[in-house]
Amino acid sequence: MSNFMPALPYAPDALAPVISRETIDFHYGKHLQTYANNLEKLIRGTALEGKSVEEIVVDAPEGAVYNNAGQVMNHQLYFLQFTPEPRTGKPEGRLATLIVRDFGSVEEMQRKMNEACTALFGSGWVWLCLNDGGRLEVASFPNGDTPLRHGKLPLLGFDVWEHAYYLDFQNRRADHVANLWKIVDWDVVAGRLGD
Ligand code: MN
Repeated sequence: MSNFMPALPYAPDALAPVISRETIDFHYGKHLQTYANNLEKLIRGTALEGKSVEEIVVDAPEGAVYNNAGQVMNHQLYFLQFTPEPRTGKPEGRLATLIVRDFGSVEEMQRKMNEACTALFGSGWVWLCLNDGGRLEVASFPNGDTPLRHGKLPLLGFDVWEHAYYLDFQNRRADHVANLWKIVDWDVVAGRLGD
């Protein structure tokens, strides 16, 4: 297994029916595995070999290396942010305070994320992130682009490539995204804020 593959903290069928085992098998087992394999090959023998994916995402030249590194990092964060049994159904502590400060309410932040997912044309990602001014924002990125490349700390990411939802929701991206909120592990998301 590639060093870039995160170990899933849940069984492959545990997120069903929001994310089915079949989707995990393809999305994690095929799509992410391919990005990880590609990245390993592309950096072998280069100055980027041995660096963390976060370093590679910031330093990589545009093109294949950045495309694959971005997708590796995006998917690592994505697969680790879900849980079949959320301890809380909502953000708590400092994260909740920041969300209310910058969006007005958790519901408004969720509405903005949902809206951005629907509005993103084609393939890409929508992130709740902390910008370099220290404020939370919802930001959309095309294809494999990642917030870190743009000085934003990624906290919670929704993958709106069709491969993320087509087996379970076909063309209904909005339904898929609405269901994702049920499996968000807010402890993991809050941990990404750091201290
Ligand atoms: Mn994906």
